[in-house]
Amino acid sequence: MSDKIVPFRRPRPSQKHRGKTLCRRGFHKWVVEGTPFDVKSGRLVTRYRCARCGAVRTEAR
Ligand SMILES: [Zn+2]
Repeated sequence: MSDKIVPFRRPRPSQKHRGKTLCRRGFHKWVVEGTPFDVKSGRLVTRYRCARCGAVRTEAR
C-alpha cells in the first residue's frame, strides 16, 4: 500500500467555468439534433441540444 497522494490534474477549469456561466445566463450552444415529427401537436419540430450542459430544447417550425 502507498500513502502517496497524487494530485489531480485539472484541465483548464477557467474555460469550463466560462461555458457554464454562458449557459446560466441563457446563452446555450445549441446544436441541431434532429427534426422529429411531434405526433401530439401534429407539427414538425426541430430539436436542439446544448453542446456544453446538455440541455434540450424543441422549436416548432
Ligand atoms: Zn447550455
